[in-house]
Amino acid sequence: MSTSARRIVVLPGDGIGPEIVAEGRRVLDAVVASHGLNLEIEEHPFGGAAYDLHGHPLPESTLAPCREADAILLGAIGGPIYDKAPRDLRPERGLLGLRSALGLFANLRPAMLYPELSDASSLKPELVAGLDIVILRELTGGIYFGSPRGIEERDGVRTGFNTMVYDENEIHRIAVRAFELCRARRPEGGARLCSVDKANVLEVSELWRETVTRVSADYPNVELSHMYVDNAAMQLIRAPKQFDVIVTGNLFGDVLSDAAAMLTGSIGMLPSASLDDAGKGLYEPIHGSAPDIAGKGIANPLATILSVAMMLRYTLNEGAAADAIESAVQRVISAGVRSADIAVEGEATVGTRAMGQAVLDALAG
Ligand code: NAD
Repeated sequence: MSTSARRIVVLPGDGIGPEIVAEGRRVLDAVVASHGLNLEIEEHPFGGAAYDLHGHPLPESTLAPCREADAILLGAIGGPIYDKAPRDLRPERGLLGLRSALGLFANLRPAMLYPELSDASSLKPELVAGLDIVILRELTGGIYFGSPRGIEERDGVRTGFNTMVYDENEIHRIAVRAFELCRARRPEGGARLCSVDKANVLEVSELWRETVTRVSADYPNVELSHMYVDNAAMQLIRAPKQFDVIVTGNLFGDVLSDAAAMLTGSIGMLPSASLDDAGKGLYEPIHGSAPDIAGKGIANPLATILSVAMMLRYTLNEGAAADAIESAVQRVISAGVRSADIAVEGEATVGTRAMGQAVLDALAG
């Protein structure tokens, strides 16, 4: 048993958020018991739910415990009923506020596809079956944050401009995080890191490449390669299984991580993490609040359950508990249990609660 309690804040959020988080929570409670973990878990309203209660998507009563927490588990936020809220008070603003308040600069997006679900992909099953890659995207720098930025008249022509800027420290910390991630994924060795940039054209990428290469000297067991972003986009579609971990900047990562998620064709299956310097993290499914199916009890909770596994692995250092959850999910999929989003036509489906229960049964078995 760990000595001092680690603090987990759970933010169910909106739409299907509370339904899927309830199942994530049941699975977390099960591994707490089976692995003797010492966690303090509390829930707070966030997003639209917090706006309804407190008039703000990220009230201080939610932000303060998030600052104190070791890790945060989020369902999803947002929905059409909040479209009329003032822009600064929309649920999505709460999420941006949380990410920036906590300095969550490293966004991990695994794209994995269980062989049994390879028919869900738009690519040929043999190209994607067993796909297991992670894209690590720098989340708080680059062109989305650089200045100057704006639209102004130059020589009589309206001109829009942004600035892609990274300093060595920003590149260094995401590179370290990438190499550490490689080590955590493959402690036995054999990890491969591909750094994606545009160093043939951009000076900022030249510095990126130099810095990542320098950091690699500290990680002799990780094989580093570099790829230009245009080629990386092509290779992701041509032969995605050639990758293990990809590290890249904010803009390139935004595009590549969505493309990689679509390779799997199953939005209800994919977890994500956003981490700070010290490994504190926000863990959430990549999907949104799915207002079209909210309240129906049919949402797939596996992305949330797999987010719990990521939390155990990357923040809490409880790899065995993470392995137990991931292998339980694998057995549930192998046994043919399907929620509607991952079923092929004619296949019997289960709802949110039954899917969560199937994972609990697999954990117990
Ligand atoms: P969405 O991801 O919520 O839904 C897209 C489609 O996928 C819908 O048909 C939905 O039913 C389905 N889907 C999503 N998750 C599913 C699950 N677990 N099981 C089964 N089916 C699932 O995207 P959207 O409809 O574009 O956005 C809805 C709301 O969510 C918006 O308000 C948006 O701003 C918000 N959003 C929030 C987050 C977040 O909380 N991080 C991320 C994306 C979108």
